[in-house]
Amino acid sequence: MWLRQQTRQVKVKDVPIGGGAPVSIQSMTNTRTEDIAATLQQIKALAEAGCEIIRLAVPHAAAVEALPAIVAQSPIPVVADIHFDYRLALGAIEAGVHKLRINPGNIGSRDRVEAVVKAAAERNIPIRIGVNGGSLPRDILQRYGRTPEGMVEAALRHVKILEDLNFADIVISLKASSVPLTIAAYQLMASKVNYPLHIGVTEAGTVRSGTVKSAVGIGAILAAGVGDTIRVSLTGDPVQEVILAEEILRALQLRHQGLELISCPTCARCQIDLAAVAEEVQERIGGLSVPMTVAVMGCVVNGPGEAREADVGIAGGDGVALLFRKGQVVRKVPEAELVEALVAEVEQIAAERAGK
Ligand code: SF4
Repeated sequence: MWLRQQTRQVKVKDVPIGGGAPVSIQSMTNTRTEDIAATLQQIKALAEAGCEIIRLAVPHAAAVEALPAIVAQSPIPVVADIHFDYRLALGAIEAGVHKLRINPGNIGSRDRVEAVVKAAAERNIPIRIGVNGGSLPRDILQRYGRTPEGMVEAALRHVKILEDLNFADIVISLKASSVPLTIAAYQLMASKVNYPLHIGVTEAGTVRSGTVKSAVGIGAILAAGVGDTIRVSLTGDPVQEVILAEEILRALQLRHQGLELISCPTCARCQIDLAAVAEEVQERIGGLSVPMTVAVMGCVVNGPGEAREADVGIAGGDGVALLFRKGQVVRKVPEAELVEALVAEVEQIAAERAGK
């Protein structure tokens, strides 16, 4: 298990961030927020996929008006994402959102900042400060360039405004589209403050490049013990973001619940369509909530041994597959029935564990 940096804890409704809480998964809707039905439908799909906190853009008054209904029916806490307009921030707080994403330095006059911070404090709503490497203030760019130091300095300016108003329920994000810049910025910030950090690589791109950039960037930061909540950014269906976020946390063993499917890369010994089998197994039992490692291996020669850490697995052969538990062969099954046999064995193990 990774040694995690201890941060201050904030609570987004009932979801804690930081202070030893499990790293939580966030996503953002891409519906029009004022379309209440579509937004709620997407939030529910995201929650089902494992999203624990959902952020919505609140760009205008129509979006604020939709918030009470969305907050009331959302199964997970709602974050309002606001740029500049303090009236939208006040409206969102009034509507019952559970967290704000706003940069206090962008709100304007001090009395406006105070009004927002006071309203957030009264309702125990944390504020996330989000600095984007692509839009640093001009003076910071001149002094530091687009560097980790510049990003941290930009964020700390916003932090200072909140601290001066005795507001400490702060979460910080420092996203950039460059993976090395993102990693270095979070590491630097973690050495300076103990506020919880929201981790992500922004504008990560299409599913392929976004998956790699997010896994490498978020993975490296988490592996260094930094980061309290994550958001994967992909261009496309946000459900994919949540699935990928779960995979990153599982790969780092920061989450143990549910099924971990392992499969071999195949080689000349493999005589079955292993990719299709792995996909089918994932499809059939991927939603299992009982912690279990399931192996799908390409050959009977090395499969059971290579996957001896798995709770259960199959190894394909020439027309006959071996079903095994912890590397020990349980029985032979005809190739045509191997998925059925594996699924039945997984369900049996799940039932055994539930009965304990
Ligand atoms: Fe090759 Fe068998 Fe190992 Fe898969 S389990 S990589 S098929 S030797």
